[in-house]
Amino acid sequence: MAENPFANAMRQLKKAAAVAQLDPLFIASLQKPQRIMEANLSITMDSGVVQTFTAFRVQYNDARGPFKGGIRYYPKVDLNEVKALAFWMTMKCGVAGIPMGGGKGGIIVDVKKLSAREIEALSRAWVRAFAKYLGPRTDVPAPDVYTTPQIMGWMVDEYARLTGNWEPAVFTGKPLAIGGSLGRTEATGFGGAMVFEELAKKLKIKKGATVAVQGFGNVGYYVAEKLHDMGYKIVALSDSKGGILDIRGKGMDPRNVLASKKEKGMIDGCYCLGSVCDCEHYKQITNDQLLQLKVDVLIPAALENVITAKNVGKIKAKAIIEMANGPLTPDADEKLFRRKIPVVPDILSNAGGVTVSYFEWAQNLSGVYWTKADVFQKLRAVMTTGFNDVWAAAEKYKVDLRTGAYVVALKRVEDAMKARGLVK
Ligand code: NAD
Repeated sequence: MAENPFANAMRQLKKAAAVAQLDPLFIASLQKPQRIMEANLSITMDSGVVQTFTAFRVQYNDARGPFKGGIRYYPKVDLNEVKALAFWMTMKCGVAGIPMGGGKGGIIVDVKKLSAREIEALSRAWVRAFAKYLGPRTDVPAPDVYTTPQIMGWMVDEYARLTGNWEPAVFTGKPLAIGGSLGRTEATGFGGAMVFEELAKKLKIKKGATVAVQGFGNVGYYVAEKLHDMGYKIVALSDSKGGILDIRGKGMDPRNVLASKKEKGMIDGCYCLGSVCDCEHYKQITNDQLLQLKVDVLIPAALENVITAKNVGKIKAKAIIEMANGPLTPDADEKLFRRKIPVVPDILSNAGGVTVSYFEWAQNLSGVYWTKADVFQKLRAVMTTGFNDVWAAAEKYKVDLRTGAYVVALKRVEDAMKARGLVK
């Protein structure tokens, strides 16, 4: 995350507004969230001591539908960051064309230091603090960094106790047993692979093209698995401790890398099928080396700010798909645009997660549950349309894909605000 992420978000907003000559009054209305809430949550710790934690909910814009966005539990959560993330959620839902607005929440806490009982107490306290402003038709939170389906389960239960109504649609990312959606686990990674397919058509990237993926968590694993199954060659993969490179460029099945990581506790330089390992044609690489590989497509799927002004000159990939939130700094972005290396922006390529969250909400409201195949078919329609809308906007205004994505999202928010009479 950049030093002042909200200032950065506002720079992106103004750039897109200038390019597409958007109404200055509408743009002014988007420079502040609709509502900012802060609360101090006091819970009794296991030791018997009462401790207080600062919590936030920012409701950025709900012109297109209920506020939507995760709740982050992290020691470095601050209001500027939550505001920026809530703005980006507004943009992400706009690009995906799903009928939700943007919001975000958080608690300043190191959950690793809390017991399960303390986390539950804190999560229920968060709901009590903001419940008046939440609801299936008002604001629908979801998990984010260090918040889990179990936490959503406690939250939806607390909301039911407060209101007397069982309303599973008020939170998404819930366990399946209480209305979670099939396919949510794979959604972000698979959505990224769907975007990859569309990019491949535009850039004439053929099956067999080489791909390096940084990050082997939920997003990195599923995007790599899907691309492997589609016939692309995953030649490098990494996690926080380092990665593996397939020297011959034949491509690895991420399932084998995962099995071996589970056994050894890390991704080392050997590619193993069961107990038979090949350490000759593979080698261990650092995360920096992975980013600098000469591959067709590079996919940063771990952390923010990994491609910066410092290392952007060493990038040799022909295209980048951002799966993490904010992996490129604005400086790096500009340099890649000048070098004609397309970057598919995070607000488009990782929108598969929020899209299936929206599907979860829709299933909860209707009481009709979909198969996994239904979920992925509908996800493909959203990701494909989103990509092609962004590509068309970037071509029309002769801008990078990120600015194109902002233009698409902003126009949709503006149309909704005009239709509701919120701006003239
Ligand atoms: P995760 O915690 O499941 O996985 C993160 C991965 O990154 C792990 O493999 C970890 O080892 C690796 N990692 C950590 N530090 C690293 C480093 N210094 N270098 C290389 N790898 C490192 O998280 P996730 O859910 O896969 O999320 C990854 C990114 O995608 C985040 O930026 C997140 O905000 C974004 N994102 C996630 C979703 C989702 O649905 N999970 C949706 C949208 C965006």
